[in-house]
This record gives sequence, structure tokens and C-alpha cells, in this order.
Amino acid sequence: MEDTIFGKITRGEIPTEFLYEDEHCVVIKDIYPQAPTHVLIIPRKPIPMLSEADADDQALLGHLLLVAGKVADQLGVGDAFRLVINNGEGGGQTVFHLHLHILAGREMKEGELASRLA
Ligand code: 5GP
Repeated sequence: MEDTIFGKITRGEIPTEFLYEDEHCVVIKDIYPQAPTHVLIIPRKPIPMLSEADADDQALLGHLLLVAGKVADQLGVGDAFRLVINNGEGGGQTVFHLHLHILAGREMKEGELASRLA
């Protein structure tokens, strides 16, 4: 796969504040926040998109979900957040290195997801 900005960030080649990091992933603030809290959980392994993950990635994918819960807690939004993964161009993905968005701090409207899908 081609390198991406997230590859450079996870390797430390672009100085970026990590809100959380461990051997498997880093968490950064989104540069164009769509909510008062908007952070990205990025695995160090450069999987282009969720649909290209395979059975070997099972533990990593579970880990990313657990980190999401932990980081949401640390950010004080542990009981009210939305977790989003955009998959592929048609799914709104723009950076082709798997990442999870945590969005919080504003009302998450019921119809918002449906209207984006329409
Ligand atoms: P996607 O659309 O691929 O699901 O999400 C990519 C996200 O990465 C977007 O929300 C965008 O604002 C964010 N983003 C793109 N480039 C950078 C960057 O260089 N630094 C940070 N912190 N976020 C970025």
C-alpha cells in the first residue's frame, strides 16, 4: 500500500501530540474537528481500510475498540460518544490507513448517519 500522512504520524516522522499511545496504536486530535471532542485512533500497522483487515488482525481490531473506550473515559466523554469508521471512498474515507473516529461533546442526531448515507 502507499504511505499516508497517518503512516508518517504513527512513525513519529511528523511531530504530533499523542493523547494516548501504546505498542499497537496512537490517538491524536483530528485536524478538522467535527465535534468538540474529535480524536482518531490509528493502528501503527498500516491496514488501508477495515475491509482489508484479515483474521490476523482480530486481536488488533479488538484492541482498538478497547482503547476507544479507555480514551473516551480519559477525555471525560466515556458515557456519550460516537465511534465511526469510514470504509473506502464510497464510505467517506479520505486517508487510506485504517482509523477510528471518536466524536463527542455535541448532540449526536438520530438521523445524521442515515442522511449521510442517502
Ligand atoms: P476519513 O475521512 O479518512 O475517515 O478521516 C480522515 C480524518 O483525518 C479527517 O477527519 C481529517 O480531518 C483528518 N486528518 C487528515 N489529515 C490530518 C492530519 O495531518 N492531522 C490530523 N490530526 N488529522 C488529519
